[in-house]
Amino acid sequence: AERLLDVENLTVEFMSGGSTMKAVNGVNLQLDKKETLGIVGESGSGKSVTATALMRLIPSPPGKITNGKIHFNGRDLVGISEKEMRNVRGNEMSMIFQDPITSLNPVLTVGNQIIEVIRAHEKMTKKEASTKAVEMLKMVGIPEPEKRLKMYPHEFSGGMRQRVMIAIALACNPKLLIADEPTTALDVTVQAQILDLMKNLQQNHGTAIIMITHDLGVVWELCDKVNVMYAGRTVESTTTKQLYDNPLHPYTWGLLESQITVGIQEQERLPAIPGSPPDLSKSLSGCHFSARCPMATDICRSNVPELMEVQDNHFVACHLQSREQIVARKEGIFNA
Ligand code: SF4
Ligand code: MG
Repeated sequence: AERLLDVENLTVEFMSGGSTMKAVNGVNLQLDKKETLGIVGESGSGKSVTATALMRLIPSPPGKITNGKIHFNGRDLVGISEKEMRNVRGNEMSMIFQDPITSLNPVLTVGNQIIEVIRAHEKMTKKEASTKAVEMLKMVGIPEPEKRLKMYPHEFSGGMRQRVMIAIALACNPKLLIADEPTTALDVTVQAQILDLMKNLQQNHGTAIIMITHDLGVVWELCDKVNVMYAGRTVESTTTKQLYDNPLHPYTWGLLESQITVGIQEQERLPAIPGSPPDLSKSLSGCHFSARCPMATDICRSNVPELMEVQDNHFVACHLQSREQIVARKEGIFNA
């Protein structure tokens, strides 16, 4: 497989009132062409900030990429000019968000907005672009596309708006689509339809996808592999199947349990893990999960666990590195 994205030691900091918050702390990601990667974690884990950094859309100030490299399609995005980056954003990488209404212009018809994007990328007459817009709406499963083109965003349901956003994001034929919780605001049936659509598009067009989500069910449906993030760091990274068959990080166990114990209709699931993530503007020593981890020992509070390959293609950042030890202890630790 051909490597599309290679993120090395990505670090993003936000300054506020004299203190610095490390929202993303040395994250590594690899993605091959046509591959789908899930980035999963609770709110505040740094998953959205990671995605925003890949697009070089971190608001600065107060935010800044302070370290690391983003090798994408042959160059390091951290080093290129804003002008070059705009080109990347328009042509090679695009992003969709949780709430499509804020990304659409309420006073322009949906058709005009799609046509504008198409014409920004390809030399086309308005008429040609309009024909292409109809094709794109068809492609994302919007019925009666000719009629729909003349309608305004508020005349679309949430699910239909997200389909429009996907059409716009794909208008430039990107190599990478980043989706930040694109189904979270939708009801369960529509969620499933949008995931199916993304799966089909991925299979037919070979677009690589990074799916940002708090929902392991979404990862299971769509992703080849997964990065679990906690408090700005990757704590576990492996194939989706391996994560389900043999999760190794205590935080992942908690996430998996929370998905089972809370109904799937919940929009933002409550963690089964008691406590909350640490304040990243404070200086922290050791494992960021140690305050909530039922298996923490002294070393966990003093030494940062490195992300290590403990099995083939299975990376874990936890001092309980011995697999037998982890497997023996994991049964029921969050049930107490
Ligand atoms: Fe828990 Fe220690 Fe592993 Fe952190 S390093 S997850 S505190 S056992
Ligand atoms: Mg988010």
